[in-house]
Amino acid sequence: AKEVDRGYYQFYSDQMNMENDRRQEILRLLPNALHNDEFHLVLQPRVAATDQRWSSIEVLIRWNSEVLGFVSPGEFIPIAEGSHLIVDIGYWVIREALRQFADHYDELDPDTVLSINLSPKQLEHRDLTRFVAEEIRKTGIPAYRLEFEITEHSLTEESETTLATLAELSNMGIRFAMDDFGTGYSNLGMLQALPLNVLKIDQRFVQRVETGGKDLELVRAIINMGHTLGLTVVAEGVETAQQVALLTELQCDELQGYYFYRPQLLDTLLGGLQREVTH
Ligand code: C2E
Ligand code: CA
Ligand code: CA
Ligand code: CA
Repeated sequence: AKEVDRGYYQFYSDQMNMENDRRQEILRLLPNALHNDEFHLVLQPRVAATDQRWSSIEVLIRWNSEVLGFVSPGEFIPIAEGSHLIVDIGYWVIREALRQFADHYDELDPDTVLSINLSPKQLEHRDLTRFVAEEIRKTGIPAYRLEFEITEHSLTEESETTLATLAELSNMGIRFAMDDFGTGYSNLGMLQALPLNVLKIDQRFVQRVETGGKDLELVRAIINMGHTLGLTVVAEGVETAQQVALLTELQCDELQGYYFYRPQLLDTLLGGLQREVTH
């Protein structure tokens, strides 16, 4: 038994060392990634449940590392969030996304907003408001065409800087969405106190509506609660026609997921749209 225990221990500690090495490697490579232009952006529309017009296009970062190959944001964003790097990456995302949005402004529906994910550390950074105001001025994009997606984790510490920044950006006319709703700890009071426009139901709940029963009732309850608070409710991670039918029946306002669009380059997305229109 001793041998077996030692074997297990060895296995887990090797595994942990490997994960730690990979983490350190990513941390080491991220600063260069910014300077070497290894990041790019893909966009994923979310559509109105009623007529499938694009209410938003969400910006998602991609990293193709010269050393590691493709690294998913699910892996490197949490690592960047552990350091100041997320602030620099975040500024790059905002600047690049606004530039692309401005370039294609005339091809987009006037109701389509640009949605950008914000990490908690970015909201803690005092320069954020000034930076965003400056980029808006430079690109000429109206503030109401911009939306930031935040998560409940931004608010766990109830920091004064975060709340002040949210208020400043919201007063400028920028919209806010609560992302991944249902995975954190926000309570009704908090949701009501924040300057929110949109509630995005996390995909793990969305994908379970098909099983019916309690899972379906849970999503119904979230949608009704969102509406009570005056919010637009979005289901993310929608993959099947049955999910679309059920969510529409539950009065979910907007839908996003592979069923409609995979995240892709804005050029490709808009090129595809034009082809659809001409055929
Ligand atoms: P998120 O903001 O919740 O984004 C949704 C994720 O689900 C994206 O993964 C998207 O590609 C994926 N997705 C969309 N539709 C479907 C679907 O129908 N089925 C499934 N299974 N997945 C779907 P992605 O692009 O890998 O991003 C993962 C996470 O990384 C994001 O989750 C977000 O938290 C973070 N992230 C991505 N880009 C940025 C960024 O520019 N800044 C920050 N701070 N975080 C980002
Ligand atoms: Ca998001
Ligand atoms: Ca999400
Ligand atoms: Ca997420």
